[in-house]
Amino acid sequence: MGVPSARLMIDLDALRANYTRFQTLVGPRCAVAGIVKADAYGLGAEPVARVLLQAGCDLFFVATLDEALALRGFLAPEYPEIAVLGGLYVGAEKEYLANGLAPVLNTLGEVFRWGRAAPGRPAILHVDTGMNRLGLDGDEVVRLLDDPGLLCGVPLSAIMSHFACADEPDHPMTLGQKARFMDISAYFPGVKRSLSNSAGLFLGPAYHFDIVRPGIALYGGAPLAGRPNPMHPVVGLDAQVLQLRRVRKGETVGYGAAHCFEKDGFCATVALGYADGFLRSLSGRGRMFWKQYSLPIVGRVSMDLVTLDCAGIPDVDLPCPGDFVEIIGKNQSLESVASDAGTIPYEILTGMGARYHRVWRAQRDVRDEKFLPERAKF
Ligand SMILES: *Cc1c(COP(=O)(O)O)cnc(C)c1O
Repeated sequence: MGVPSARLMIDLDALRANYTRFQTLVGPRCAVAGIVKADAYGLGAEPVARVLLQAGCDLFFVATLDEALALRGFLAPEYPEIAVLGGLYVGAEKEYLANGLAPVLNTLGEVFRWGRAAPGRPAILHVDTGMNRLGLDGDEVVRLLDDPGLLCGVPLSAIMSHFACADEPDHPMTLGQKARFMDISAYFPGVKRSLSNSAGLFLGPAYHFDIVRPGIALYGGAPLAGRPNPMHPVVGLDAQVLQLRRVRKGETVGYGAAHCFEKDGFCATVALGYADGFLRSLSGRGRMFWKQYSLPIVGRVSMDLVTLDCAGIPDVDLPCPGDFVEIIGKNQSLESVASDAGTIPYEILTGMGARYHRVWRAQRDVRDEKFLPERAKF
């Protein structure tokens, strides 16, 4: 097992509480899907999916076929539904079928291939409403509405679209996308509708439809930019101090000698770096916490190490080798690290590297539990 240089602590009780909060918010007629792409935003698809399953989640979204296969590997063969946002990968029809996976059909070509390869097997139809990445484009939607035969008999378990700007409340594009989604989905009576990610979900009941798809907020991230974060924090990150060094006025630290100490003091060398997803843009920006002290990052973030200025800490309180300094926790939020790094919380979470020891914490140790979901329909 070794010794952790850095520890990523994942609070599964907080995750469960966030999921339950969504269920309460959207009410019993709307389902809350679990977005577990990118290894559940870096937090571990397996433990995360197990908690969500216990909480009643019966639809999971992943990005790629590989992620879907890994997820299916530790779930029951047919339940819950696993949908692949990347669509029906060319030549992979049989793998979806054999593993009980549902493609999100992003083009009429994919609809056709699925209808032929998997007659009678459900899929999700994705119509684009302005994002212009994936999903049937305007022309394809017109063709489909003119000729429902183009559905090739595929039973739709849902119709979905995705917002471009929902995290900026009042952005005019959001209303337009919602209107377009309502127009199109009206042609599919009885098919479940899904539009909102985390941000959309918080825009109110008119945005919930039948299935919501929260990701970042599930993992404790703020759903709406510039608004207070109503979610329970799920993620904690700390890293080990390897050395405490005495530094003299005029000395420099790290590559490029990018920081020069203005007075004598101490500097702590911490065991994480850009190879762990601790972004190099944090060089000379941001901070870590030791006890109640805020320690500025000085010099460049290197591959495996970061240096902190310990000026201002009384000698008796200085960190020692083996102590862990806080990066994300009660003193510093995920949002604040992301903002110092000049990026978004999504990138910080999904970039967290393989060297971190991931520690999943729960009152009930969900990893060891064998369970069947209450709403299982085998
Ligand atoms: C990633 C993703 C989500 C979740 O988005 P968040 O902003 O993390 O809530 C929902 N829907 C689709 C199609 C996605 O790709």
